Amino acid sequence: MIEWAAVTRDPLSVWFNDVVRRAGFSSTDEFARHFELKPYRLKQIYRAAAKELVGDVDEVTTLPKDLRAALKERGIAFTSVEPVVIQRSNDAQTSKGLFRLRDGKEVEAVLMEHYGDRTTVCISSQAGCAFACAFCSTGQAGFTRNLEPTEIFDQALFFARELATRGKRITNIVFMGMGEPFHNYDAVMNAVALLNDPHGLGLGHRHITISTVGLVDKIDAFAEEGLQVNLAISLHAPNDIVRNSIMPVNRRYNTEQLLEACERYIDKTNRKVFFEYVMLDGVNDSEEHARELASLMRGHLYHVNLIPYNTTPDGPFAGTAEDRIWRFAAILEEAGVPTTVRHNMGRDIAAACGQLRAETQPKAHKVAATTLSS
Ligand code: SAH
Repeated sequence: MIEWAAVTRDPLSVWFNDVVRRAGFSSTDEFARHFELKPYRLKQIYRAAAKELVGDVDEVTTLPKDLRAALKERGIAFTSVEPVVIQRSNDAQTSKGLFRLRDGKEVEAVLMEHYGDRTTVCISSQAGCAFACAFCSTGQAGFTRNLEPTEIFDQALFFARELATRGKRITNIVFMGMGEPFHNYDAVMNAVALLNDPHGLGLGHRHITISTVGLVDKIDAFAEEGLQVNLAISLHAPNDIVRNSIMPVNRRYNTEQLLEACERYIDKTNRKVFFEYVMLDGVNDSEEHARELASLMRGHLYHVNLIPYNTTPDGPFAGTAEDRIWRFAAILEEAGVPTTVRHNMGRDIAAACGQLRAETQPKAHKVAATTLSS
């Protein structure tokens, strides 16, 4: 019954599976036989890419020169995502990347450099999204396809390499880019294994957050994983009437079913659940909504994160004024609900979900790739 337990989450296998298939091999075994590679060679190759952050297979100095050339020739590549456009915010704290996948599809990832050494990379799990949240530009554009584990991982790797040139590293990962992580469950769990691997990037589970639109069956599956990864729920409404009006998924799993799943998750894991609540002017942001939300949240191991809305060009929504966001937060706090207001980063480069892709397509193909350092 718990089929997910059978899925291999061995990072080295996950990585090679994607990398060798892209080069036309049917399996890692076939690849290893073809090049007569012993297991330690496979480890060297994986380690070079995932831990030492080497950009290309022909730069792996621990491998014989001929082998490097042969691997490269045969199409073994260390990245599956090519940067098309990299934009940096005026304050240089936020860098947004648009990446092209091998089949030409595009996804976004964002690097946020906070004060101190903390850095967060926001990554995509799908090209497009099937859940059509009314306020989200990715949701409005529809679903294209699932990403493979390495296509997810390589977004982080890109920023890890760039940070390394400045003596910095990724400290946090959030699955808050394009797509619904729990709609691509196994690939996301495999990507988490890659991100976490101490022989690779080595990011602690506690520093990874998965954000979901609220797929109840997958919240239950996730609770069974026994991971310390944080769970964030895109709630965005204090009742079914409001939630139905902005999030079609609520007709499949309503607020009550969603919160019941969160309770089961907490019972199982003893871990706090984070609720995201994007503040939409005149939609979900009245003082009455705040009181209603407070009564849903109060007395549980919950944390509410209020998100200032990043206005999308053609969308009908406007963000709540800042003073009213703080008033909303105060009502929650007074009711004893731990609440934070998300610090807004990268507004000048439209760093919210789906916004870069929306801006650049279809002209993206003409834009030259730029590097972060340029
Ligand atoms: N599908 C997942 C993760 C991707 S979206 C989810 O729904 O949680 C990550 C978060 O960004 C979600 O809470 C989403 O509702 C929010 N979001 C989408 N568009 C936004 C915008 N324009 N401004 C602010 N937040 C936005």
